[in-house]
Amino acid sequence: MADNMLPTINAERIWQRHLEMAQIGATPGGGVHRLALTSQDIAAHRLLAEWAEARGFAVEIDAMGNMFIRRPGSDPALAPVASGSHTDTQPNGGRFDGIFGVLAAFEALEAVDDAGLTTRHPLEAIVWNNEEGARFVPGCSGSAVYTGAMALDDMLDCRDRDGVTMRACVDDLRAALPAAGVRELGRPLAGFVEAHIEQGPELEANGNTIGVVGGMQGNRRFHVDVTGEDAHSGTTPRAGRKDAFVAATDMAVALREVFWDDEDVVRFTIGQFDVLPGAKSVVPGKASFTIDFRHPSAETLQELGDRVGPVCTAHAGPCHVETHEISSAVPVDFPKPMVSRIAAAAERRGFASQPIYSGAGHDARYLAETCPAGMVFIPCWRGISHNEAERAEPSDIAAGAQVISDVLVELAELP
Ligand SMILES: [Zn+2]
Repeated sequence: MADNMLPTINAERIWQRHLEMAQIGATPGGGVHRLALTSQDIAAHRLLAEWAEARGFAVEIDAMGNMFIRRPGSDPALAPVASGSHTDTQPNGGRFDGIFGVLAAFEALEAVDDAGLTTRHPLEAIVWNNEEGARFVPGCSGSAVYTGAMALDDMLDCRDRDGVTMRACVDDLRAALPAAGVRELGRPLAGFVEAHIEQGPELEANGNTIGVVGGMQGNRRFHVDVTGEDAHSGTTPRAGRKDAFVAATDMAVALREVFWDDEDVVRFTIGQFDVLPGAKSVVPGKASFTIDFRHPSAETLQELGDRVGPVCTAHAGPCHVETHEISSAVPVDFPKPMVSRIAAAAERRGFASQPIYSGAGHDARYLAETCPAGMVFIPCWRGISHNEAERAEPSDIAAGAQVISDVLVELAELP
């Protein structure tokens, strides 16, 4: 297809749609609180479905609560080319994480429609359910179940803190959208590109508009349980103590050294730390903490991650320690042709771009296992995300949506 046949997205329309979506679950602090499949999140799905219906695009929902908006292609036998992300947010999250990818995908469908273009493959805008994992654990369960990486029934049986099951929430979504068709899980996609705010500081620091995402780092998460002995803090001499807090902090300091790298690529975080029984005058007999370790290299994940157990044991002192690996994910490398296609699309439109690696996990991780997948990042202010202060510029949003539109149209012309 000639470059001049690529449709131009409507920058004002996509910005207005962001503002409208940001009202659903709006917080006093200027953010959005819209946990997966709550009434707010379902309202966001409904608004999107209304826009789709006004266009004559078909809306479908699958058994896991993922929503699909389709513009047909000329060859109904071909699998759809798709883009999308999520409408759910973290508690008191921002106005752009997730929803930008959904609205960029929808804008691409609208821009193609405005141009009156007939694509060979159908185009789809997808809302993946429960990406954030803030209400139902684990996150990304919508895309994981769709692609077969997680079992449907396990995820539908998940309960939130109030005991509400995902199954009941998906029923609520379906009831709120009675006109939506039924989509079977695992229906193949011919390609998938996801737009997202960077959630990090690189693009802004380099003055670039588009991040061409080469892949996503992997992770290993651990839980460490330290057991000592409760004792009277006034009478027990140091030599007789089995202080679980002291042992746990010794482990934390030693781990920090082991995971230190001069290049600052390793992401090592102790985000939860509990001390029990948690009384001022009791030498604590129990301590536990979590480790979240991320890295782009599978070898480094293996080597450094395997040191967690031995390092903790070496610094347990008089206490007993047990380490458990609670989850892991391998790094993802997006296919080279997709990465080059995204870079070329940015260049053709005159957007300053750079290669970038995703520090966060996204739905594209699971899609990459079943179809050619890629991601497009845009800058966000100071890299701040999962925060009410999250901010992205209208011009960057338009640029990201334009790249998504161009890439989708190209992919939709492939055999
Ligand atoms: Zn997100």
